[in-house]
Amino acid sequence: MLKSPSTHTSHIFCRPVSLVVIVAAIPAFIAETRFSEHTFRLFRWRSPETREQHYLETLLAREDYAKEVKLYQLGARFLQRYRDTFERLYAEDRRLTIQKGWWGYGLGLLSTGAFYGAYGWMVLEAIAGKISLGEMTMYLVVFRQSQATFANALTSIGGMYEDNLYLENLYEFLDLDINTPQGSVIQGINQEGLQFENVDFCYPDSTVPVLQNISFHLQHGEKLAIVGKNGSGKTTLIKLLTRLYQPTGGNIFLDGINLNDWDTDILRQRLGVIFQNFVQYQFTVGENIGVGDIEYVEDAQQLAIAAEKGMAQPFITKMSQGFQTRLGKWFRGGQELSGGQWQKIALSRAFMRSQADILVLDEPTAAMDAEAEMQIFNHFRSLTQEKMVILISHRFSTVRMADKIMVIADGKISEQGSHEELMALKGRYAHLFNLQAAGYGF
Ligand code: ADP
Repeated sequence: MLKSPSTHTSHIFCRPVSLVVIVAAIPAFIAETRFSEHTFRLFRWRSPETREQHYLETLLAREDYAKEVKLYQLGARFLQRYRDTFERLYAEDRRLTIQKGWWGYGLGLLSTGAFYGAYGWMVLEAIAGKISLGEMTMYLVVFRQSQATFANALTSIGGMYEDNLYLENLYEFLDLDINTPQGSVIQGINQEGLQFENVDFCYPDSTVPVLQNISFHLQHGEKLAIVGKNGSGKTTLIKLLTRLYQPTGGNIFLDGINLNDWDTDILRQRLGVIFQNFVQYQFTVGENIGVGDIEYVEDAQQLAIAAEKGMAQPFITKMSQGFQTRLGKWFRGGQELSGGQWQKIALSRAFMRSQADILVLDEPTAAMDAEAEMQIFNHFRSLTQEKMVILISHRFSTVRMADKIMVIADGKISEQGSHEELMALKGRYAHLFNLQAAGYGF
């Protein structure tokens, strides 16, 4: 008959058993965490390669790239590049998975051995009569439960650690935007319009000044045209105005308030910008225009008004499904537009922002001929009498219609004034104007 063990015996017995539960699970836990870290580092290091892979997939599969890829016979080369990257990434993945597998297997074996050792020991203790059968059963159940609970706790800690690694990455990314100061002003203190005061700018991680000492003043209702060679800093100036970047020197004021002090949402509502490389959404015509003011994206009447102002209405009405026609070739039934038609969609998008009083057009009509551009601008001017307009264009027939013209060269203002003033100056503007006038015969 088995002896009833004393409480003292149970205590002595409990301690080593709980030690086994803890010690046996820890090596596997350490290995797991180390491998999470490894996987994360690998994921981070090779994210540029993974992005390149996605890019190659797009190049090879998208209709709008296909004509050049086919014509220049680039397919095989791009495919080989894709394969090389894939094989390199696959080899790394394979190595890590095998390593992880072996370590997991070895340490798992160790834990299992320790657990079965503990089970065996309990049985032996029971046979030796140090614990009763009832106690042995209880210990076995408690042991198995604590083992499961402890393993779950470690897995959760490991999971938290891994999530934390990825979250850190996300916070690092979000910090990029959080660093821009957020103001709270929602109204100006005067009606002075837009002022740039000695603005300098270098892109982050670069010491090359892209803009230097830029100063100008644009009153409400005035139209400013910016002229300059490619790469002279025109688009960068617009990026500063829209607060996509901060000036590295000087200040920008809107209605007497520094741009940094404005509530960013209010500020952006006042701006309607069409960038040179505006997005051609593979959505419906209505959505492509409606994204200009997301509040009215479903409002058919607003869409029709904006399309009318942007001179897109005539070709939209000819489409079989009108505003419901899907644009682009990514999806079945999508219809492709010409460059000039896309630009009219973009203009209409800018007109959706009916509350915006600063309109910026960064070479919005480059895909149109000079006559169509002039027609659009006459029309545009009549619709924007109260608004400030900044226009970037290489067409002097349009530029001359602006109240003020600014010539930028290598990030600095080289000439500034009205068309007549600049022509009288006989500088760069006058030279380029005469050159184009001879070409176009205007
Ligand atoms: P523009 O609109 O007059 O053609 P940009 O303002 O686009 O000229 O570019 C001005 C200069 O800034 C160019 O030398 C260009 O290489 C550089 N640049 C433009 N964007 C970036 C960027 N995101 N990072 C670093 N340099 C840039």
